[in-house]
Amino acid sequence: MNQLLTQKNLKLICNIVTVCFLAIHILMLYIFYSNRVVPMVNVNIFSIIFYCFCFWAIYKGYFRFFVLLTYFEVLFHMSLAAIFVGWECGFQVCIIGMNALAFFAEYIGRSVRGKYVPATPLCFLGMAFYLQSYYYSHNYKILYPLSEDTKVFFQYLWGIVVFVITIVCLWGFTLLSFHSERLLSIQATYDKLTGLPNRYFVARHEEENLTDNRWIAMTDIDDFKKINDRYGHNYGDYVLQTLAKLMKERMRDCIVCRWGGEEFLILGENDNMDRVYEMLDLFRKEVEGFCFSYEDIDINLTLTIGFSKYKVGLGMVDWVSVADKKLYVGKYSGKNKVVA
Ligand code: GH3
Ligand code: MG
Ligand code: MG
Repeated sequence: MNQLLTQKNLKLICNIVTVCFLAIHILMLYIFYSNRVVPMVNVNIFSIIFYCFCFWAIYKGYFRFFVLLTYFEVLFHMSLAAIFVGWECGFQVCIIGMNALAFFAEYIGRSVRGKYVPATPLCFLGMAFYLQSYYYSHNYKILYPLSEDTKVFFQYLWGIVVFVITIVCLWGFTLLSFHSERLLSIQATYDKLTGLPNRYFVARHEEENLTDNRWIAMTDIDDFKKINDRYGHNYGDYVLQTLAKLMKERMRDCIVCRWGGEEFLILGENDNMDRVYEMLDLFRKEVEGFCFSYEDIDINLTLTIGFSKYKVGLGMVDWVSVADKKLYVGKYSGKNKVVA
C-alpha cells in the first residue's frame, strides 16, 4: 500500500473535497435565492444538508458511500440546474470534471483496500445525464432565465472549478504513482532485513561498471544453520543484521550486498590484489574476534571468503561464479579463511 494513503490522509482529502463542495453550494444557494430560482434553492438546501452529513460519513470511514453519493449529488444537481436555468450557465461542465475525481477515487480505493467504486460506469452515466440535460435545455423553454451577468459569473466559476478538480486529481495521480514506483523499486533492490542492496541491485549496477581493476568477494558465514538451530531464527536475523552493519562500516569504499541467505557479496575497486586480500583477511579476523551478543547470549562466528579479480570478457554471472568456486574451496578446506 502506498504510504501516503493513510486513513488520516484519506479523511483529510475527503474533508477538503466536502468543504469545497459545501462552499460552492452555499454560494449557489445565495445566487439562486437572489434570482428566485425556487427549485434550485430547494435542491441546494438539500445538497448543503447532504454535505454536512458527509462529514459524519467520512469520520466513520464510509469512503465508498461518500464517493458514490457525492458523484450522484453532483450529477443530479448539475443536470437539474442546466435544465432550469439553461445550458449557457455551464453547470453541465462539472459533470465532465467529475470524471477525473471518479477515477482518482477509484485509484485510491484500489490502492488502499481493494474496495472501490468503479469509475467507468459512473462516467458513462455522467455522459448520459450530460446529453439528456443538453436535450432538455435545447428542446424546452428555460423556466428560470438568468441575467447575462449571472451567466458570465457561472461560466467563470465552473471553468475554474473544473480546471482545479482536473489539475488536483492529475497532480495527485502523478504524486501517488511516482511515490509507489519509487517504493517498489527500493523494495525490489534492497534487502529488508539488513537494509543492504540485494543481488538485483548489484547485477544492474555492476553490468555497467565492469573494469579490470574491480574485484568481488563472496562472503559466507560458517555453520550459520547451527546458530539458527541452537539459538533460534531471531538470533540468526540479529547476526545477519550485525554483520551487515559491520561490513558496511569497514568497507566504506565498496558496495556490500546481501546475495542471499547468509551470503554477502562485496564489490570493490583496487589495482593491487594483495592489498585486497590483506583487507579481507583483516576483516575475517575481526569477525572471528567479534562477540555477537543478543538476549544475553554471546557467540563467536567465522567467515569464509572467496574473492576474484575481474577478467575482461567475463559477464557478471560468470564472475560471481568464479568467486563462488573459491568460496567453496575455502569451505572444503576447513572454513574460516580467504581464498584468492
Ligand atoms: P556452511 O558453513 O557450509 O556455509 O554451512 P551453513 O550452515 O552456514 O550453510 P547452510 O546453507 O547449510 O545454511 C544456511 C542457513 O541460513 C539455512 C537458512 O535457514 C539460514 N537462513 C537463510 N536466510 C536467513 C535469514 O534471513 N534469517 C535467518 N535467521 N536464517 C536464514
Ligand atoms: Mg554458511
Ligand atoms: Mg551459504
